[in-house]
Order: sequence, then structure tokens, then C-alpha cells
Amino acid sequence: MTLQTKDFEAKSPEELLRWSMDQYGDKAGLASSFGMEDMVLIDMIAKLNGPLTIFTLDTGRLHEETYELMDRVRSKYGLEIKTYFPDRNKVENLVREKGFFSFRESVDNRKECCYIRKVEPLNRALGELKAWITGLRRSQGVTRTDIPKVLEDADHPPLIKINPLAEWSEEQVMNYIIENNVPINILHKRNYPSIGCAPCTRPVEHGEDIRAGRWWWENPEHKECGLHNRPAH
Ligand code: SF4
Repeated sequence: MTLQTKDFEAKSPEELLRWSMDQYGDKAGLASSFGMEDMVLIDMIAKLNGPLTIFTLDTGRLHEETYELMDRVRSKYGLEIKTYFPDRNKVENLVREKGFFSFRESVDNRKECCYIRKVEPLNRALGELKAWITGLRRSQGVTRTDIPKVLEDADHPPLIKINPLAEWSEEQVMNYIIENNVPINILHKRNYPSIGCAPCTRPVEHGEDIRAGRWWWENPEHKECGLHNRPAH
């Protein structure tokens, strides 16, 4: 299928989710790390009551608060969450050779850890899908300013990548959460706007970029873990 990606730019998040369900059924999957944007999408998916898959990557280094939110989602919405884990042998070898905090020593080491704990499990998850849905927004930082709502994913062909909240502001996300009583990770109330693995995420100061707390020891242009590379133009 050849997509005219600009045709989707006027569609609302719910319209894009409905289109994903109609087009791909359970072969469309929301990749969720249970951040605020993902929680908005989960709430919308539950209300649309369609067959979309919801999956997550358990890196083994997540915050306890994130696991608690996953269980709240299960009980509130009654949705199945497919959980993918890293390859046990690769994690064991990494830790034996380089210890538990090798990712602080260099960008290469950090990307190695992200590859083992996130990218390889993501590739396995995506191998079961035809389209993946993300909570990416254009205002989330310098690496995301130009993401389309729908694109052919050059990093994972022939997958279609759908970003229903691409044009939403942080305020729109917050308003949806409040108006719809959507559960969120309690860490957001402790100044964590973007939550990843526990040792690689810290709270941000007032006025800082919302992804400033992710891999804070690196330059901003390096701050993607390989899950979402910049779209080619
Ligand atoms: S975010 Fe940190 S702990 Fe998590 S996979 Fe990447 S480097 Fe490893």
C-alpha cells in the first residue's frame, strides 16, 4: 500500500485509531511505555472498543511506579498488555562483561544497552504487526519536531507508523487526562515528564525541556534509544 501521508494530517487521534483498527485489526499495536501520551491513547482505544494490540517492553530496569501503573491499566480497562522481555543471554553477557551501569560510560555503551533491552524486543514485537502506533508528539524535543501523523516506517519496512498525537501540545494531553480521569504514572507528579528506565531518568527543573531528564549526561541530539529514529526526508 502506498500512503499519501499528508492525507492523514487533518484527522483527529480517535479517527486515526479507528482507521488503524479498520485497516489492520489486531495487527496494529500501540507501543506503550505508559507515559501520559500512551495513557491518553489507551483510554481512547478502550472507548473505541476495537481489536488493537497494546504492547510494552519490560527492560528489567523500569521504575516500580511504572509496573504499578501497568496493573492499574489492566484492572481499570480490562485490556491485555503484551509484554516483551530482552533476550536473557544477551542481558547476562552485558552485565557480566560491563556491569550494571555501563550506559553511563559512553553513548555507544548506552546504545548497546538500549539495543539489548529495548530495540531487539521491539523488533520482535513489530515482527508480529503491520502497523504500530506511538504517543510521539512534535513538541517533545529536538529529535521529534517534524514527525508526520502517518508514515511508512523506513526503519521497520513494511510497517506503517502512526502517531495520532503528533500535533498535540502538552496542555492538550493534560486536559484530556483530567477531563477523562485517566490514570497516570505517579512519577509525573514528582517532576518526571518523560519516564524511561529508572537509572536513565531524572526529574526536570522548571523551564527545562521535557526530555531533559532522559540520559541527562548526553547531548540532546543523541537522545533517542533506537526505538524512534528521525524520519527521513
Ligand atoms: S534507558 Fe538506560 S537502562 Fe534502559 S535500556 Fe537504555 S541505557 Fe539501558
